[in-house]
Amino acid sequence: MATRNPARATMRRFGTKQPTGHGVILSALHPAVRAGRTAFSSRVFDPGELPRLLKSGQHSRKIGKQVAKGHRRGWPIYTLTLEERASCPRTCDQWTSCYGNNMRAAERVLHGPDLIEGLGVELAGLAAAHPAGFLVRLHVLGDFWSADYVAFWGEMLARHPALHLFGFTAHEPHSPLGRAIALLIHNAGWRRCAIRFSGAPHDHGAARVVGPGETDPDAILCPAQTGATDCCATCALCWQSRRSIAFRSH
Ligand code: SF4
Repeated sequence: MATRNPARATMRRFGTKQPTGHGVILSALHPAVRAGRTAFSSRVFDPGELPRLLKSGQHSRKIGKQVAKGHRRGWPIYTLTLEERASCPRTCDQWTSCYGNNMRAAERVLHGPDLIEGLGVELAGLAAAHPAGFLVRLHVLGDFWSADYVAFWGEMLARHPALHLFGFTAHEPHSPLGRAIALLIHNAGWRRCAIRFSGAPHDHGAARVVGPGETDPDAILCPAQTGATDCCATCALCWQSRRSIAFRSH
């Protein structure tokens, strides 16, 4: 009898890889770490080289194609993947252990003005196609790289009421870009812009990495990593709750 692929049953092309706690940690002397780039430079694409910048969550092990629970049930989910380290703050405490080190196949979009222009076009199309609502997961890899880019997302949220964001940032909340991101969240509201500060100590609006066997009393362990749910689409915690989330290191 054919074995049923559990990922297909949950709107993902690939099944879950549970964290091992022994992720790929690059040496501080690794060229990618020193230069602040991905270790897989052949997987960075100019926006014009890609058929689309925002990919269906179906292509991600962790995300899923559309929301399966809660009041956003049926909304499609899209993801944006930028180049890790190149678009991230040097202060990120996962600089050498970024899980992008383990994502050889991921397509990273080169950040810059062309990305902003292309995203504007795609978001207008998605807003027209999904007037009831859609979610964009920022940034599977990468981060907010400039104040103009943060402002761009503010403009998009104002222009497209159907657009809803969720994701994480490694910017420190009190850094210049961290303050701009906090203002973005404040202005749009958590319901529209659920971006968590990675590594922040708060019991809400933050995300933290815990080691094997560790727990964080001020955060909920990501249910997809405990096996309590399948993926973000079947979980919905990140956009339905402000409680901080803990992740086991990969
Ligand atoms: S807590 Fe839920 S929504 Fe958030 S990352 Fe984990 S599975 Fe996805």
